[in-house]
Amino acid sequence: ELRLFSLKDFVLGRFTKYAKQVIDANMKVHIKITSLGQACDVLSLVGVAGIYTYAVIEAVGGRASPGDLLLVFNATMQSRQMLFGLVVQVGGSFQELLMATRYFQFLDTDPLTVQGSLTRLPPSEALPVPDSIRKGVEFRHVSFSYPENERTVLRDLSFFIPAGSRVAIVGQNGAGKTTVIKLLTRLYDPVEGEVLVDGENVKHFSLMEVRRMFSVVFQDYVEYDLTVAENIAVGNIDLLDSSEEIIKVAKNSGFHRVVEKLPDGYDTMLGKEYEEGTNLSGGEWQHLAVTRAFASDAQVLVLDEPTAALDALREHELYERFSRAAEDQTVVFISHRFSTVRMADLIIVIEEGEVQEVGSHEELLNMDGMYAKMFRTQADRYG
Ligand code: ADP
Repeated sequence: ELRLFSLKDFVLGRFTKYAKQVIDANMKVHIKITSLGQACDVLSLVGVAGIYTYAVIEAVGGRASPGDLLLVFNATMQSRQMLFGLVVQVGGSFQELLMATRYFQFLDTDPLTVQGSLTRLPPSEALPVPDSIRKGVEFRHVSFSYPENERTVLRDLSFFIPAGSRVAIVGQNGAGKTTVIKLLTRLYDPVEGEVLVDGENVKHFSLMEVRRMFSVVFQDYVEYDLTVAENIAVGNIDLLDSSEEIIKVAKNSGFHRVVEKLPDGYDTMLGKEYEEGTNLSGGEWQHLAVTRAFASDAQVLVLDEPTAALDALREHELYERFSRAAEDQTVVFISHRFSTVRMADLIIVIEEGEVQEVGSHEELLNMDGMYAKMFRTQADRYG
């Protein structure tokens, strides 16, 4: 892009501008420090000159011997050096203290509350999360806006995800689908309303336990510079040392076919950071990311459209495999492809932060509303 859009001057210009600001600011501080140092130096030299003059006058008056004079000269110079050292040390310590304050502020930051306005229960009051969700997960009159932004992103959202079902969330870009997933997994809490698991507000559970109930593959999943096996085990770190399990998972997701072509199979180092690293194509990385969800034994598996780089047929096949592998788990997925969406037991249509329609594929087609319109548009495009 830099070359094709001729952005060299623009990027370099920006860089130079900010670099100059930093250099100028540094320079100002240095000039201040140096001037202060020099002023101190002059002051101490005046002091030394005073002492020397006094000593010489004493010697001329016969009240001090040449030995005394030498002693005073040496002692003065040594004192000056020591004082100078002391000033440097105190200055340095002061600087380090400033840094230390930042460091301790950082250590005191609660990693669980960094994301936003989460409220947490003391561990003694937290209810245990259900071992297996019996009824389902519910959004009840949920409204939400992001912490630094007034705009309401979700408005009075209510729907129910039955345990063990396959639920698709559809809607246009910016409708609020990913935000729903973030509230579901408690990366944020609703501003109004409740998210409930088996009728219990998720705020009543321990935050870490709630997060363990869910496994999510986001659109912007991470491509780790690790081996293939390790990249899969990210989905369930307990599998890290069990290559048999990892191969089983990859076979379930169909990713085993890709691994077979790699130079060192499951031990192939991925990523461009390493000289021997192998890079995967966009579609292969996505397949790998979804394979992580196959590895997970979380109760609710969430796929937030991590398959956009796959063609419609591959995506369909992957979701079919996923549905089979996750027989006992609840699956929530976001997709723009109706060939995938129609496989869901329940489809939730979100439009501008509000639930528009809920139902099965057939029900929604019969309703002839938003979903039916979107479905027909895409079906037409595929001829
Ligand atoms: P979708 O997944 O349906 O494309 P999102 O849930 O990602 O939509 O976004 C819904 C709205 O929330 C968008 O208008 C988006 O700009 C806004 N939004 C998303 N993330 C943030 C954030 N971290 N801070 C502020 N606004 C956000």
